[in-house]
Amino acid sequence: MNLNAVIEDPNPIGWRFDNTYSLLPEAFFAPAKPSTVSAPRLVILNHRLADDLGLDLTRLSPEAAASLFTGQDLPSGSLPIAQAYAGHQFGNFTMLGDGRAILWGEHRSPIGQLVDIQFKGAGPTRFTRRGDGLAALGPMLREYIISEAMFALGIPSTQSLAVATTGESVFRESRLQGAILTRVAASHIRVGTFQYAAATQDESNLQLLADYTISRHYPELAGSPNRYAKFFQAVLERQAALIARWQLVGFIHGVMNTDNMAISGETIDYGPCAFMNAYSPETVFSSIDHAGRYAYKNQPSIAQWNLARFAEALLPLLDPEQDKAIVIATEMLNQFSTLFEQYWLAGMRAKLGLENAAAGDLELAQSLLIWMQKAQADFTNTFRDLSEDELPAKDRYQDPDFRVWHARWQLRLNGQNRPRNEAHAAMRGVNPAVIPRNHRVEEALTAAQDHDDLSVLNRLLATLAMPYEVQTDTAIYQEPPADDCHYRTFCGT
Ligand code: AMP
Ligand code: MG
Repeated sequence: MNLNAVIEDPNPIGWRFDNTYSLLPEAFFAPAKPSTVSAPRLVILNHRLADDLGLDLTRLSPEAAASLFTGQDLPSGSLPIAQAYAGHQFGNFTMLGDGRAILWGEHRSPIGQLVDIQFKGAGPTRFTRRGDGLAALGPMLREYIISEAMFALGIPSTQSLAVATTGESVFRESRLQGAILTRVAASHIRVGTFQYAAATQDESNLQLLADYTISRHYPELAGSPNRYAKFFQAVLERQAALIARWQLVGFIHGVMNTDNMAISGETIDYGPCAFMNAYSPETVFSSIDHAGRYAYKNQPSIAQWNLARFAEALLPLLDPEQDKAIVIATEMLNQFSTLFEQYWLAGMRAKLGLENAAAGDLELAQSLLIWMQKAQADFTNTFRDLSEDELPAKDRYQDPDFRVWHARWQLRLNGQNRPRNEAHAAMRGVNPAVIPRNHRVEEALTAAQDHDDLSVLNRLLATLAMPYEVQTDTAIYQEPPADDCHYRTFCGT
């Protein structure tokens, strides 16, 4: 035996695949293979996320990383599949599935959490309908930026591990650089996955999916006699909490179709999403959302609408008698608004430095919003200004309506036993100084796409990584865009 022989580590990066989704019946997925591409090149790698996942990506040469993150060389243990699902898109039911996404498999992190590792833009699958299965660099970097911002804000979200270009062209309105995003998610099980299971008309599919999802995301419910009702209730709670978090930072998802609502409670599918600047409940950025179905103010009611579709899919599991199942589901669904409002109001209290609850708090928060809308005040900056020990000297804060509100708020703060500077410090911990402003995101994407310059994007990411802290660059990222009314976002297709 030659003891000096170099034994090559077969898994230097540390992948720990444990592919559980593909144990579901075959109806739920189809084998898939990333397309061969001509010139893989790594654009960005998320080392912070890699660390969290127990992956040592520093062991990869740039070529090996490019090859890995374009699916040219998948690690052993991966089992690439495309997932089947359905969904209501702008209210219309359609059979969908991963048309341009491929799940490599599930990886177990050092803390034992199972996460999906998925490609977006790696070529067609069995579920590709009219599309090409591809993605362009801009939208994939956009998802990277916004998902990182959401993570740093502490809002449940899928995350982005890498973006690589393929060397292929992608044709949209113009010719664009093809790219692949590697996305990490608690899972990609959606409301639409349940709608799909229900549509197979095979109740065992539905039950297997429900039990699988419970064991993956709500393990405390496994084995419980009423587990499907409790499961629905738990999903409803997570969505109420999530949408409240969105509203409290002015995040507009833009395409809240039922296939874009994750059962895990994470924000998923960053297409035409964007953050609101001046407070206006009607705000909608998506170029295809003509009726404003997914406008800022509609997000809570749309979440409830989506949950009603989820309940419909689950009915056979809630009770063998449909009438009884409907009663059970309706009762739970009706709690959504109250739950949402509780989460929202708790968040608003924190934003306003209130550590206890008092009658009138809802009205206090609402009257601030009414003033902000009238004054076209920036949502993020107004809350941040209120968090400073000294309110910045801006003209709009001299408005008599604001003064009246401010005096009321001061009175309310005086009623709690908390030094004012402590209240302000707590407020700065929940009111971000920076959000990914539309013009700053666009500027970073333009530099990356048109000039191969990632420095703008990296500076933006560094600031967004600590949104509650004031850093060197913070001030330039706090400035709202000059003209926001005409800003339009596009589904990242
Ligand atoms: P999205 O609006 O990104 O959530 O996508 C809705 C559906 O369209 C999903 O089933 C996607 O897989 C599919 N899809 C979106 N873009 C493409 C594309 N370029 N090629 C194939 N399928 C796509
Ligand atoms: Mg989607």
